[in-house]
Amino acid sequence: MNMFESAGAIRHGHFELSSGLHSATYVQCALVLRYPRLAEKLGQALAALFSDATIQTVVSPALGGVIIGQEVARALPAPRYGVETGAPAIFVERNAGGSLCLRRGFTLEPGEKVLVVEDVWTTGGSTFDTISVVEEAGGLVVAVGALIDRSGGKIEFPVESQSLIGLSIPSYAPEECPLCREGGSAVKPGSRFARSTP
Ligand SMILES: [Zn+2]
Repeated sequence: MNMFESAGAIRHGHFELSSGLHSATYVQCALVLRYPRLAEKLGQALAALFSDATIQTVVSPALGGVIIGQEVARALPAPRYGVETGAPAIFVERNAGGSLCLRRGFTLEPGEKVLVVEDVWTTGGSTFDTISVVEEAGGLVVAVGALIDRSGGKIEFPVESQSLIGLSIPSYAPEECPLCREGGSAVKPGSRFARSTP
């Protein structure tokens, strides 16, 4: 949590999210993952939560899951691929039609044991979609993981799930926002960063 807060990846205040809803907490994992040494440490911590599972490959949804997927795979033991390469980290991405799929020659062996890794779960939608792609490709999802679970543990995944940080973050329509009612005004984190760019 300290790493996220010091990197500005979790902020407390009064924010207007990209959805238009207001919230007292803003989460942007890219702000902590921009530091490769922090990303490596977070990957090690997340990988350690799956020490009881046999994992052959890490699959992440692009773009948000790519960096943490890479770092989790780096930290995993390599049950099949040998010390030299370790477990691979691959990713799913959208094709021209907007569907998630494996591209770039990425493939899975029948029954290949997969850990799906993502940065943040809000509804878990990208992780569910990634599970579907892995299963269609013949892989077997044995577990799913995320750095941050914004749902407060409410998402029911069909396999073992672990997150490093669990948050329960309420968000409100502006007219129902208790922070607005107290007289505050919400800031848009994205536009504030844009203005601070020289
Ligand atoms: Zn508000």
